[in-house]
Amino acid sequence: KLYNQVQDLKGNIRVYCRVRPFLSGQSNSLSSVDNRDDSTITIITPSKYGKEGRKSFTFNKIFGPYVTQAEVFSDTQPLIRSVLDGYNVCIFAYGQTGSGKTYTMTGPKELTEEELGVNYRALSDLFLLSNQRKETISYAISVQMLEIYNEQVRDLLSADGVNKRLEIRNSSQNGINVPDASLVPVSSTFDVINLMNLGQKNRAVSATAMNDRSSRSHSCLTVHVQGKDLTSGNILRGSMHLVDLAGSERVDKSEVTGDRLKEAQHINKSLSALGDVIASLASKSSHVPYRNSKLTQLLQDSLGGQAKTLMFVHIAPEYEALGETISTLKFAERVA
Ligand code: ADP
Ligand code: MG
Repeated sequence: KLYNQVQDLKGNIRVYCRVRPFLSGQSNSLSSVDNRDDSTITIITPSKYGKEGRKSFTFNKIFGPYVTQAEVFSDTQPLIRSVLDGYNVCIFAYGQTGSGKTYTMTGPKELTEEELGVNYRALSDLFLLSNQRKETISYAISVQMLEIYNEQVRDLLSADGVNKRLEIRNSSQNGINVPDASLVPVSSTFDVINLMNLGQKNRAVSATAMNDRSSRSHSCLTVHVQGKDLTSGNILRGSMHLVDLAGSERVDKSEVTGDRLKEAQHINKSLSALGDVIASLASKSSHVPYRNSKLTQLLQDSLGGQAKTLMFVHIAPEYEALGETISTLKFAERVA
């Protein structure tokens, strides 16, 4: 209940900040995090940000380095459950490469049940809840997994690789959709794990050609839910986009050329387009610039209106990451 009140006040946009723990081998690193509580984090800054060299940022929630995946999920759960009531939900993971985006959304490379990320937990929760409601509503759940790389949309669930470029369409009947992307019905966590493995494999295939492309593309797991009320016959539709964004680090334009420069420009463009869209929704601006990137076009139906948005911004604790940490928090502050 409180959650919904907060949502109303914030225009359906929430921002959570998650601080990654130090990794092994970083035991001697200094921290750039000076202090934090449930909703405010203070960062040690170069002196230009004020005499004390500290700057504070306030968000809906701060998750410290030892907050578990289960705890992160339990704060996200009400939002996810609203998909079964017909809401559209977007969850983003934002941050520089290595700050923990994939950890939050999927988990670590060697997955254990305890460390399963939001994606798996969200789907198993949807299965559980839809099963509990099965006497009154019959649900069908299906998923798509897309990658946006250099402003091109590709299907991560296609059986024959990811090379076909897909078009985003807008039809009066189906709203925004990608008609040629695989749409796979799922009914168990087992199905989901298999699909995510396929998606990850397809992503890895392109990575060998492009050298760790995963940090330079956005990946979007979309869950479509259709529920039929067994008494009235009414149909409700909800969707959830779980987006692991490309690394937000700024690339020094004097040091890269060619493909790498092009990638950096595309990432920069789409992340700032996303920031512009969310900021204009948060300020209730009458014009929302969805058309400026493939990412915001794809998510147009699920950003704004009745839709609910959650941004996880990730920061690395080490002092070496300070510059990126501050720019990440400034991005987040703008959309919060
Ligand atoms: P990104 O996707 O932003 O590039 P990763 O999710 O790959 O970053 O995280 C980088 C490394 O840090 C990985 O080895 C990951 O398992 C680890 N890591 C990130 N966040 C956490 C966390 N909250 N707890 C433990 N390990 C983490
Ligand atoms: Mg990642």
